Formats: sequence, structure tokens, C-alpha cells
Amino acid sequence: MQTVHTIADVQAFVGARRAEGLRVGFVPTMGNLHGGHLTLVEKAKQHSDVVVVSIYVNPLQFGPNEDYDSYPRTVEQDQQLLTEHGVNLLYAASTNEIYPEGSDNHTHVTVDILDGMHCGSSRPGFFRGIATVVTKLFNIVRPDIAVFGEKDFQQLTIIRKMVSDLCLPVEIIGAPIAREDTGLAMSSRNGYLSAEERNDIAPALYRCLSDARSAIQEGETDFDLLRRDAFARMAEAGFKPDYFNICNPQTLLPATHNERSLVILAAGYLGKARLIDNIYFDR
Ligand code: AMP
Repeated sequence: MQTVHTIADVQAFVGARRAEGLRVGFVPTMGNLHGGHLTLVEKAKQHSDVVVVSIYVNPLQFGPNEDYDSYPRTVEQDQQLLTEHGVNLLYAASTNEIYPEGSDNHTHVTVDILDGMHCGSSRPGFFRGIATVVTKLFNIVRPDIAVFGEKDFQQLTIIRKMVSDLCLPVEIIGAPIAREDTGLAMSSRNGYLSAEERNDIAPALYRCLSDARSAIQEGETDFDLLRRDAFARMAEAGFKPDYFNICNPQTLLPATHNERSLVILAAGYLGKARLIDNIYFDR
């Protein structure tokens, strides 16, 4: 696997592969790779001939009091994992080139209608930061396909809408949530948890989602009751609940009682981490 740091080097590599008629797959990440990222790589391999992974901790998507400075950066370990998984190119981007005039003084991409809901209401500017950097990365790499995790369901919905609205020439592919044995969704931020938080408390988030799904599948229609119950159980387990929203999976608006499919999006604070998870199902 080759590692490059500049736009020119990415474009030289990808341009040569495209000239050979190869299909390019892309997996954007912030690094500190875990099993969830690697399932995205495997998915990209199924849909393309050449796989490019980017690692970039994007300052534009972090709020002033968030963990930009302390976000784990483990490039050597990541390189080893990506090599083992047959990735062709790692693009470790640098802020000098992504935001040469600073991230504030930069054109922004915003998917207005989805921007302020769920994670967007607790993290203003978060999705604008993501939509902006992903647009840039698409224009740098020019992939045929790009893979994103369903773990970040709202992010995936925003990227799909952005690609459709702006006619970006890339196919977006979703990959299922990779979980630890306890049910906890894999995440770089799980590393902020103590062993006790990670093993004894964090799995409660997925249990609350699964139990709400079971209740709905057994006929419960009082979504407000389910939401209050999940908040109480998250708090009892040791979380500070942020949201637990039962939604239409296309619009992410509150579900009515007509949808055949639903998604429940949830987030909560635990120790030094803010964890998110979701569950997507048919009634
Ligand atoms: P991140 O490095 O956290 O920005 O994530 C990069 C990509 O990996 C995003 O598309 C995420 O949705 C995806 N991802 C992160 N965790 C998981 C997981 N547990 N299962 C599946 N995809 C994931």
C-alpha cells in the first residue's frame, strides 16, 4: 500500500488506475481504525478494483468544546491494518492543503433540511463540516463508489441527499453497523471509556434500541412512551441521554404510524464520550 499526503499525489495515482479502466472505491475516515472501518474496506473491495482510504481529522466538523485536539491519531497502526486488508492507497490529508486559508474562510456545503436535527441539534456545524469535507474529498479522489457506515445513519442520509442534489458522479454504498460482542457499536470514541463504562454501561444503548424495536414489532404505537422509557433506562444505566428519536428512515422526521420501515436514532453522553447508535427495521 502506498501512503500519500498531497492532492497531486492522490490524483496521479487515481488517474493512472482510471486510465487502465479500473473502478475506484473510496472509504473516507478519521483514522484510529477498528473493525467497523474494515468492513467498509471489504465492502469497497467487493464493488471496485482499487480501494483508496483517506484519514483526515476534519477541524470543520468539531465544535469549540469538542475533542478535535484529543481525537486519537494512530497513523502507523492504521497503515498496518489497511495494508493487511489489501487497500491500495492511503491518503493522509493535511489541513494546509484542505483549508489553506483556514476552515472558517471557506466555502461550505449544507444540506439544510437534515442539518439541524438529531446530532445536528447537539453539535451545530457538525454536518456542514462533514458535507464540506466529503465534497472536497470526492473532488480530490473522484471515486466511482464511496462506502459509508450505517452507524452514522444521519451522516449517510445527508451524503446521499447531497450527492443526489448536487449531481455528484459517485455511487454511495452503505455498510451495516459492526458491533462488539456486547452489542456496543464499534467507534473510535469507545477508547475514551473506562473498562467498566465500556463493558457494563455502554451496551445499554443498543439494548434500549433493540427493546424499543421489539415493543414496536409487538404492536406498541405510543412512541412518546417508548422514548421516555428509553431515556429513563439510559439514565439508570449511567448515561446522560441526548436523544432517542423514532423516525421515518428517508426523511429522518418523527415517524407517523404509517411507515412500514422505521429507524430509531439515539445518542448519549457516557464518561468522556458521546456515543451514538441506531436500529433500522420493518414493523
Ligand atoms: P469515522 O472515522 O468515525 O469518521 O468513520 C468513518 C466511516 O466509518 C464512516 O462512514 C462511519 O459511518 C463508519 N463507521 C464507523 N464506525 C462504524 C461501525 N461500528 N460500523 C460500520 N461503520 C462504521
